[in-house]
This record gives sequence, structure tokens and C-alpha cells, in this order.
Amino acid sequence: MKYLLLFVVVIVVLMLHKKNRASQQSVQERAKTQRLSAPEPMHACTRCGVNVPASRCVWDAQQRPYCCAEHARQG
Ligand SMILES: [Zn+2]
Repeated sequence: MKYLLLFVVVIVVLMLHKKNRASQQSVQERAKTQRLSAPEPMHACTRCGVNVPASRCVWDAQQRPYCCAEHARQG
């Protein structure tokens, strides 16, 4: 009888530990998704009109956005 009680306690502790780890993982995944989905302004390339995220734009001297260095060079 003593061992049965010990066995039940061990099972309950393991279940609580597993549940706690699962909830921590979902919080981390949610934080990761929020980081990925942060909005970023888009700019149309002055030469071809393709929309490019601001962080990937190539800017010329007049601060006009381009999709690539080739289009920035061609103007
Ligand atoms: Zn372009």
C-alpha cells in the first residue's frame, strides 16, 4: 500500500512537470511568432515598381528606394 501511494505521487509530479514544460514552450512559440509578424513599411522600387521591405531597399543619393543595386545604378 505504501508503494502504491508513492507511485501515485510520482505520476502526479511527472504529469505536472510535463504540463508546465508544454505551457512554457507555447509562450516561447507565441513570442517568436509575434517577433516574426512585426509590421515593416514597404516601398515601391523607383525603377520597376516592385514592393520591397524598407530594411532591404537600396537607396540612392536622393533617398529614392530601389529593389536592388542594379536598378539603383540605372536610376
Ligand atoms: Zn526594381
